Amino acid sequence: MGRLSGKVAFISGGARGQGAAEALLFAKEGAKVIIGDILDIEGEGIVEAINNKGGEARYVHLDVTSKDDWESSAQEIDKNFGQLHILVNNAGITLRRTVEETTVEEWDKVNEINSKGVFLGLKYSIPLMVRSGGGSIINISSIAGLIGMGNIAAYSASKGAVRLLTKSTAVQYGEKGIRCNSIHPGVIETDMTKESMSDELKRQSVLDATPLGSLGTVNDIAMAALYLASDESRYVTGTELVVDGGFTAK
Ligand code: NAD
Repeated sequence: MGRLSGKVAFISGGARGQGAAEALLFAKEGAKVIIGDILDIEGEGIVEAINNKGGEARYVHLDVTSKDDWESSAQEIDKNFGQLHILVNNAGITLRRTVEETTVEEWDKVNEINSKGVFLGLKYSIPLMVRSGGGSIINISSIAGLIGMGNIAAYSASKGAVRLLTKSTAVQYGEKGIRCNSIHPGVIETDMTKESMSDELKRQSVLDATPLGSLGTVNDIAMAALYLASDESRYVTGTELVVDGGFTAK
């Protein structure tokens, strides 16, 4: 028996990076997985990899800023699986700009994807989760949603919003059997950080500030998400799971 046997999981931004690692791990642990992303070819590729290994997965095109896409994704899940137990609001983008450098358009775009995208995910998934008898929601925030960090103004604001929307959701839906927690990754090696971490000075400064002395991997986050998705965390809701090698411990 897998740790997620019998569960249906939806992962936004599951075509690559952390979301793809979560999709593969959740399927390995017995969940039926639906991936939503704007990267259709990559998303279909992850679904194929899961199905080829004997798992059950589907892909839906989803722009997390689109109410219509979320509505049709929820309908697709309902039609094909009839239930939803796990939602990972993982899709996100970053922007390395100070307050003054950030244009109004950039501010809106980052907050639309990272913050409004999570709100829409909750809004259109919770009814199905309630009908399924409850479930576990995992919102991917960041250490930038916990502490002030350099030149990432809009990103920090969007991830701080995710942190408190998570707690608010936990309080509102506990009585419906829905748990809601946030994960706060440190610097994880993905496409998102490839450019900044290819700068040796920046990379070394992150390593120097990280007690465990390395960057994180997608599997580090997927393992944390697996715990929150599974019934092992049945009494955990509204919490912040920091996975950062100790970066914020100082
Ligand atoms: P990534 O760029 O590899 O993956 C992000 C995924 O989100 C991609 O598949 C992308 O297509 C998808 N996405 C972007 N905009 C979308 C939209 N409008 N609709 C649907 N999908 C969209 O990066 P990652 O590191 O895997 O990031 C995953 C999450 O982790 C993000 O929310 C990110 O902010 C967060 N995070 C990352 C780090 C890090 O160091 N990599 C640290 C803290 C938090």
